[in-house]
Amino acid sequence: MENETKNCVNCKKDFTIEPEDFNFYEKIKVPPPTWCPECRMIRRMACVNAWSLFWRNCDKCGTRTLSMYSPSQKINVYCQPCWWADDWDGTEYAMDYDPKRNFLEQVKELSEKTPYTTLETAYLTLKNCDYSNCIAYSKNCFMVAWADYCESVYYSSILNGLKFSSDCLRGWESELCYESIGFINNYRTFFSDESDNCVDVWFSRNCYSCTNCVGCVNLRGASNCIFNVKYSKEEYGEKIKEMKLDSWSGLRKVEKKAYEFWLTKPYREYHGHSLNLNVTGEYTFQSKNSKEGYIVNYAENCKWCQFITVASTKDCMDYSGWGNNVELIYESGQIGDGVSNCKFSVDCFEDSVNTEYSLWCVRSKNNFGCVNLKRKSYCILNKQYNKESFDKLRMQIIIDMKKNPYVDGLGRAYPYGEFFGVCFGKFAYNNSNAGKFFPKTKEQAKAQGYAWNDEENLTTQATIKASLLPETIRETIDSILEEIIECSNCARAYKIVQGELDFLRKINLPLPHECPKCRENTRFFRMNKPGMHHRECDKCGIKIYTPYAPDRPEIVYCVKCYQHEFA
Ligand SMILES: [Zn+2]
Ligand SMILES: [Zn+2]
Ligand SMILES: [Zn+2]
Ligand SMILES: [Zn+2]
Repeated sequence: MENETKNCVNCKKDFTIEPEDFNFYEKIKVPPPTWCPECRMIRRMACVNAWSLFWRNCDKCGTRTLSMYSPSQKINVYCQPCWWADDWDGTEYAMDYDPKRNFLEQVKELSEKTPYTTLETAYLTLKNCDYSNCIAYSKNCFMVAWADYCESVYYSSILNGLKFSSDCLRGWESELCYESIGFINNYRTFFSDESDNCVDVWFSRNCYSCTNCVGCVNLRGASNCIFNVKYSKEEYGEKIKEMKLDSWSGLRKVEKKAYEFWLTKPYREYHGHSLNLNVTGEYTFQSKNSKEGYIVNYAENCKWCQFITVASTKDCMDYSGWGNNVELIYESGQIGDGVSNCKFSVDCFEDSVNTEYSLWCVRSKNNFGCVNLKRKSYCILNKQYNKESFDKLRMQIIIDMKKNPYVDGLGRAYPYGEFFGVCFGKFAYNNSNAGKFFPKTKEQAKAQGYAWNDEENLTTQATIKASLLPETIRETIDSILEEIIECSNCARAYKIVQGELDFLRKINLPLPHECPKCRENTRFFRMNKPGMHHRECDKCGIKIYTPYAPDRPEIVYCVKCYQHEFA
């Protein structure tokens, strides 16, 4: 079989389907896609909302609770205890399939009457994480999004095994870290990017196994270095004192100098390491035969996958989050924990098997077009069948979907084999993960058929301006917990919480001057976005496929040149 060029139904650009893709489609018995890989990724990510939370009342018990759904959304939303309770399982909303009507229209109808959980969590595996989203197997976390196996973490995202840390992004198996992104096995690492196995490292990037370093780049096994210059232990101690790293103004001075210094040193072609075998993508680690990934760990034979954060993921395509012993997932998001053979679905987890066109089917097997269904097997539109009648009706519906596909307001058809984002998307584009990684204006989003939301959580009047906060944490007294601070960037009000104050005292760092949202935005800005580019290595000139577009200011080396210079 040869490459086939197709024209994307959504963006009208050409895209290529390769022989290996056809093999996969044949293996899982689906027709090839009609949307290009990027449009498919955005469509999936628009169905998930990890980072935009609102206050809303539970539609069952009335409790005021944080929710992914905004108060104006006209759907039923249950608080987590109510959603996960055993007194309902979703079959209460069962519908008979009407062959005279379009099937996905009926799934859409079901999706508008079943109750949703406020937050997307594996609730039964959590302890004291009521203000965190997309989280499992964790305890005492606050305002954390996308995390597994974490403890006492604040205001951080995309984590695995992070403990006693705050304001981090993509942190793995580390402790006492602050304002750092992309790291594993770190202890006391602050304001640093893409550095592993480091202890007491500040404002550094791409450093490995370093101790006591400030503002360093591309060092291996170094200690007592400042801006890549080696000092004696005593000199280092003196210099550090002069920098006043415990003060707000001291930190800002070193930060500015560090960011300028970082740009003068080469970047590796993509973020990954030598344990990868035959991979392309960005932030890809310990993976094999996996292409076009973005934030992918422990994947094998995968393509166009994002946010694979827990081992392991095998034979998957077009899959956005999160791994943990899964296989054969296609055009789905937020699927994990022992799932296999899942297509065109969102939020189906914990050993779900053979799931199609379903949303929020947990611990369920063999379901087709089900929404908010728990612990059920052989259901269609939440209605229970026996195996024989399920198989027969499923085949009938697939034929009907091919003959009479759902067509949306923009004339895009969704035959069997196409993920049905318009139906499952309960989030406005700007509140969804797509909005976070592929920002669009209101007009651009609406032109593609996405909803938009202008609502915001109301904030109270600030009692103190951030510029008046104490220079150091030593000068900060407990009454700060009563104050409402005005963010120095967006002027929104925010508070300091007890655990955060305790943490900052422990690491001897001053209070942040920006609200949690602005801090989060700045961290995401430090990270490369999905999307790969062809350019040349700035050292040897060979062609590389990299997240750094040719017009970016960074000096970029191919893996070979980078390894030759920095091991
Ligand atoms: Zn497209
Ligand atoms: Zn409730
Ligand atoms: Zn702000
Ligand atoms: Zn090179």
